[in-house]
Amino acid sequence: MQRGIGDAKEKIMEKQDIKSFTMEELAEKLCGMGHPAYRASQVYGWLHSRLAGSFEEITNLPKAMRKELEEAFRIVSLTPVEIKVSKIDGTRKYLFALSDGTVIESVWMKYRHGNSVCISSQAGCRMGCKFCASTLDGLERSLLPSEMLDQVYQIQKETGERVSNVVVMGSGEPFDNYENLVRFIRLLSSREGLNISQRNITISTCGIVPGILRLAKEGLPVTLALSLHAPNDGIREKLMPIAKTYKLDQVLEACRAYFRETGRRVTYEYSLVKGVNDSLKDARALGALLKKQQGHINLIPVNPIKERTFRQSDQTSIQAFKNVLEKNGINVTIRREMGRDINGACGQLRKSFLETR
Ligand code: SAH
Repeated sequence: MQRGIGDAKEKIMEKQDIKSFTMEELAEKLCGMGHPAYRASQVYGWLHSRLAGSFEEITNLPKAMRKELEEAFRIVSLTPVEIKVSKIDGTRKYLFALSDGTVIESVWMKYRHGNSVCISSQAGCRMGCKFCASTLDGLERSLLPSEMLDQVYQIQKETGERVSNVVVMGSGEPFDNYENLVRFIRLLSSREGLNISQRNITISTCGIVPGILRLAKEGLPVTLALSLHAPNDGIREKLMPIAKTYKLDQVLEACRAYFRETGRRVTYEYSLVKGVNDSLKDARALGALLKKQQGHINLIPVNPIKERTFRQSDQTSIQAFKNVLEKNGINVTIRREMGRDINGACGQLRKSFLETR
């Protein structure tokens, strides 16, 4: 009996992941199966624009073809396990199960300029940043392009509202899953799919220099966000192990190269941790450091996690920190906390779910 179930699962996993194929690749596959090229745009449109979750739904295909597709391909779809809705601002946090039982989380936020979805690029993370909940249990696995996409698709279907912005700022390090990330960006912005503008897609990295330089050359005008969190290597190394591999001057040079290649200003994220990186001296050093960079800085009051002792800076220090940066001519915003009542920090919903199992 057990063996039977295992076999069935294996068989499904052997099928090709149809939602990770580009339109051109799908056309090649379907032509190879003897179908005319227009079938590929039909199927692609159903999967990526009408967000079909099964071949059954693709009613304008002949029955025999649906059966044939069913045998050759699987449609990766996530299952919502839990949805938390903020009573304050309508922010929605989703816990999704993947087909192998792995769970991940995503967030939907409503802004004046449109709806934004924050997706995970990996289940867990191996970067080890000290204040982050996603990394506490390490990396479980990287996500497929289809699994990144389906976070956006499921959320658009569930809310019934168009998603206009996507930020890859959930669990995981996007450049630790580079190929799947780039494929995801191309699929998400495809004209025949949700057609989300590449300018409205943000990739946030802890500072993997080769990833930044490689993305700069892809011809994708997406926004890069760098998790900076410190004005010098000494403090940065205390918070982020990756800082030992890539020094700040290298990382900032890569960000300048990103701007030169793409014309896109980089966003610098700086989580303020009381007594660690929030002094006026730190602010002045940060101001000097960012003078040469084209971009703006986003201050984030650190979201405390129970496994660590880091505390949030108080409002007066945050404001004073901001003033120093502004005096240095730097464009600064303080990130508004969304969904305060359902707030766990990044990866906490997933972590608390795993702890109860
Ligand atoms: N690995 C990528 C993307 C995921 S984290 C990166 O490092 O950028 C997204 C952002 O949230 C990063 O800036 C990260 O440093 C920050 N972050 C993670 N946990 C946090 C916490 N508890 N409080 C504040 N910011 C946090």
